[in-house]
Amino acid sequence: MKIVMYHYVRESVKNLPFFRYLSFSNFKKQLDFFEANFGLVSFEEFCRLKTEPDFISCLKNKILLSFDDGLKEHFSLVYPELLKRKALGIFFMPTAVLEEEKALCVHKIHYLLGHGGGGGKLLDLALKLVEPSMCESKNAYLFEDYYDLLDDEESVKNFKLLLNYNLKEEFKEEVLSALIKKCGLSEAQIYENYYLNHEELKIMSANQMLIGSHAHAHINFLNLNAKEEAKEVQKSFEILSFLNPTIRTFCYPYGEFSRNSRTILQNLGVDFAFVSLDEYKKDIDEEDLRLNPLTLSRYDCNAFKFGKASMG
Ligand SMILES: [Zn+2]
Repeated sequence: MKIVMYHYVRESVKNLPFFRYLSFSNFKKQLDFFEANFGLVSFEEFCRLKTEPDFISCLKNKILLSFDDGLKEHFSLVYPELLKRKALGIFFMPTAVLEEEKALCVHKIHYLLGHGGGGGKLLDLALKLVEPSMCESKNAYLFEDYYDLLDDEESVKNFKLLLNYNLKEEFKEEVLSALIKKCGLSEAQIYENYYLNHEELKIMSANQMLIGSHAHAHINFLNLNAKEEAKEVQKSFEILSFLNPTIRTFCYPYGEFSRNSRTILQNLGVDFAFVSLDEYKKDIDEEDLRLNPLTLSRYDCNAFKFGKASMG
């Protein structure tokens, strides 16, 4: 079984000429391609894997679809399409956006880049606001080649690297707020219509979609200690408890787990957790489900036909 991950799936993006997303028409073409060649995993099939890991041999090359970040279009575009095709989608929700009317830092970064284009100007602005003392030195090296895998231009990579990984968590909000103001944008305008809400999650969940946790505030676990990480996960499952899913699923923010992650998730009764690290890219077999159910590998949709991002 292959697990494929998606983020933005949109028809077009008004006012953001440089925003990168998978177009809805290519998304549908990709699903057609998967259905014709491999088949899509259904809700019932996935649920069986919890108690019968050997059932995976019947799923052979089938594709399990997963969607990160709790984005609005996962309800308006993706969910109806999956219903039509009787396919399961697992949707990973960062729960902070259900509690506070504030976009996640990672999405503010996408929005800024989508608005202004190349990272050059943004990188310059950001470097004026960031002092070396505001950066993580102990973990920075872990992230150095992370963005080499993406086909962004150099300044975009460096902008993302600085804001997502090097800048210490406690400074992210303030630096991003300043950048948003400098670009003539507002925080409210970014948050508006960006995320799924309680009602949409309930409807999806009642119609055999799975809603999983994507932690609370979407912070990289490598920048948290064990206690902080456990709090991020626990809080998120508490907020999602109104859905009461048959299977507890989790997806690591930025796809990365720490040495504490497995224990934390086990203690909270998580059945399956998903990563998105390059060195973990593989099809899932029975052994993975039995031995590593909390670090299941996924492919980015751009690894397959029709999965490349469009702009604007
Ligand atoms: Zn994410």
